Formats: sequence, structure tokens, C-alpha cells
Amino acid sequence: MPFINAGNEIENTILIKRNIAILGSTGSIGTQALEVIRQNPDRFSVFVLTAQSNAALLIQQALEFHPAYVVIGDESKCREIETALAGTNSKVLCGLNELAAVVTSPEIDIVLTALVGFAGLQPTLSAIRAGKDIALANKETLVVAGELVTSMASKYNVRILPVDSEHSAIFQCLAGEENNPIEKIYLTASGGPFRGKTSEFLSTVTKTEALKHPNWVMGAKITIDSATLMNKGLEVIEAKWLFDLDVSQIDVIVHPQSIVHSIVQFKDGSMKAQMGLPDMKLPIQYALAYPERIENTFPRFNFLNYPNLTFEQADSKTFRNLSLAFEALHSGGNMPCVINAANEVVVAEFLNNRVGFLQMSDVIESCMAKASLVKNPSLEDYLETDRETRIYAQELVTNRW
Ligand code: NAD
Ligand code: MG
Repeated sequence: MPFINAGNEIENTILIKRNIAILGSTGSIGTQALEVIRQNPDRFSVFVLTAQSNAALLIQQALEFHPAYVVIGDESKCREIETALAGTNSKVLCGLNELAAVVTSPEIDIVLTALVGFAGLQPTLSAIRAGKDIALANKETLVVAGELVTSMASKYNVRILPVDSEHSAIFQCLAGEENNPIEKIYLTASGGPFRGKTSEFLSTVTKTEALKHPNWVMGAKITIDSATLMNKGLEVIEAKWLFDLDVSQIDVIVHPQSIVHSIVQFKDGSMKAQMGLPDMKLPIQYALAYPERIENTFPRFNFLNYPNLTFEQADSKTFRNLSLAFEALHSGGNMPCVINAANEVVVAEFLNNRVGFLQMSDVIESCMAKASLVKNPSLEDYLETDRETRIYAQELVTNRW
């Protein structure tokens, strides 16, 4: 932390280097986190790098950042990585089962969960049990098991630092407001590539069109989720757990320019927003360096380039995933786990051209109707719900569409 003297100048800075484990280092968030770390070698070092299958990039990252551990999910890539890293100090582990153990290493300060989907749940729980702070990009973990994850985080006294830009915005707006209750939050949404389109239009859109996000370059799954507005639905659930809110306190507002990253309204009606150019490196850096803000050279926002910041209502009639997510949150229990599992299946199948854009919501809705509600699920209940829902969603895609 910086030491500030009476003249308010930083006289002396004592830096404690943070050791970071990056789960999913080859993805969009993972590579941007490494860019932040590359720019701040005196503050951060990399202790663990993991990826599912991109061996070439994982090797390149390991040779640059010298992590103690490198984990590859796809075991067929194991030999290639072992050979490339032979003679270095990095230990290579194979198979994703290794993740839950490696995140408990005593040297780790923060675990950045930058992997996609339900796969993030078990390593996150394991890291929390080991007392590690979590920089959370993997929103699916909180969607699936928000109650369990947040109650374990308080039990083990760990911080969950949001990386998602909207949640980072809210977190930043709440600094210094610890005793002031939130009246409501507004999560901003770009509206995605199909904002303003009709159901008729959406019935024929292709994955190539859906993968063209207007403002952000992200992994394929979240890009499709942004096009269907499921991403915003998942973020509503994520916000509920991160900020301990009731569903009625969360609103979504479409803001196509993605400059206002989200807004908190306090009980006196005053609203605080966090703004900036859309660049995930900023929320990543804020989470890794929290509570400090560190200097960087990221491009700055210029008002004159954005004379019109606009806001409009989200169209949850056409983009039904958003209302399904609210519905799941109202039902509670394992229902958000159901929509997450069904959504992971349909997004993968949409990317395989095996289900249409609008049918994704149909499958999710059918899965919700079929599921039995478990009001207070245990970890085993979540695992079972996820497994059963995936089977049913897959059957629906295979047999009906
Ligand atoms: P991505 O597809 O670009 O990267 C995913 C990373 O996770 C890769 O390194 C991949 O090897 C690894 N991975 C994939 N499946 C895995 C599995 N089953 N087990 C272990 N590792 C696996 O994804 P991304 O866009 O970086 O998104 C990562 C997470 O961050 C998601 O939960 C997403 O919702 C969230 N997020 C992303 C952005 C963004 O700008 N990309 C913004 C907000 C939140
Ligand atoms: Mg987001």
C-alpha cells in the first residue's frame, strides 16, 4: 500500500507482490490478465497457468511468466507441454481434476477464475476453502451456486472481487459507501449485435452473425450469451449474490455505447456510475490490485467522441432468455443452475449449427419446466441438477430440432 505523507505525495511505496493463479489463461480474460501482469512485474507474479486445450499458447505463456505449475485439461496435449517445458522450473499437471488441488497451494494470493462455465465451480470452492481471494470472471459459478459460494466465502473470510465489467463498476461505486444501503442497481447492457431486431429476423441468424459483438471481443460462449441477452440474465443473478440484493432491486438498461458500465442508486436517490472505454483490462487490474488503483497506459475516454450516450429498455419479450433468468432467480434454489446447464448445452449446439437462435430459449424453458425445484440445494444437488439438465437439454436438441 502506498504511504501518503502530509503533503499527500506518495513518498514511499511498499509493494507486496501478489502471486496469481490464472484458471483459463489462454482465453480472452486470461490473456488480458497476463497483459496487466506483464505491465506490472513488480506487483504481480504468476504461480499457476491453466488451459483446456491450447497447448501452444500455454507453453508460450509458461516460458514468459515462469509459473510454478502449468495445468492442461486435454490430456492428449500433456506430452507436448512436458517436452516443451522440460528443464524449466514449471511442473506440468494433466487433467482438470488437478485444478481443485493446485489452487490450494500456500504461495497463491489470488485465484483469477477466467475459465468458462460450470467447470469453474469446483476449483473456486476449493480455492475458497484454502482461504484464497477470488478474482471472479467465471460468472457461471455464482449463477449455479451463488448461495453456497458466498456463504463459504464469508465462512473462510475470503474476498470475491468481481471482474465482470458491470459488477466491477458497482463494486467501484460502492467504495466508501459501506454503511449506505443500496436502493437499486442498474446493470447496463450493450444490447448485442441484434439489438432492435424482431423474432422473425432472429429466426434465421447464423453463428457468424451472432459472434460479431459491437463493443467487446470475448470468448465464443459469452459472445453468444450477449447476443441472446442470456449474459445479462446471468449477470443479474451474479449481482444478486455479489451485492446481497433482492431481485426487485436489480434492473437492466440497454446502453449501446458501453461507456457507463453500471450504476448504483442509493436510498437518497443519488446515483453513482462508473464510466470508461470498454476495456476488460481495467476491471481485471482493479480486481488484482484491489483496493489500489494503479497507473496504466490504457486509452482514455474522450467525451467529444461520444456526444450521445443513450439508454433504452431491454426487449425481454423478443430476447426471452433475459426474462427466463429473472424467472429462475424468482424461483431460487437450483433453478439458476438449471438455466445455466441448459444454456451451456444450447450455446455449444448453436455453435455446432445444430440448434437455431430462437430455439435456444425454447430448450431452456422446457428444461426449467421439467426440473424439480430443490429449495436449499447442497453441492451434490447442484452437481446432480447440472448433470440431469444437460442430459435433458441434449435430448431436446437431438430429438426435436
Ligand atoms: P474464453 O473462451 O476466451 O477462454 C476460456 C479459458 O478457459 C481458456 O483458457 C480455456 O482453455 C479454458 N477452459 C475452457 N473450458 C474449460 C473447462 N471446461 N475447464 C477448464 N478450463 C477451460 O472465455 P472468456 O471470454 O475469457 O471468458 C471466461 C469467463 O469470464 C467466462 O465465465 C465469461 O463469462 C467471463 N467473462 C468474460 C468477459 C470477456 O470479456 N471475455 C467479460 C466478462 C466475463
Ligand atoms: Mg459483463
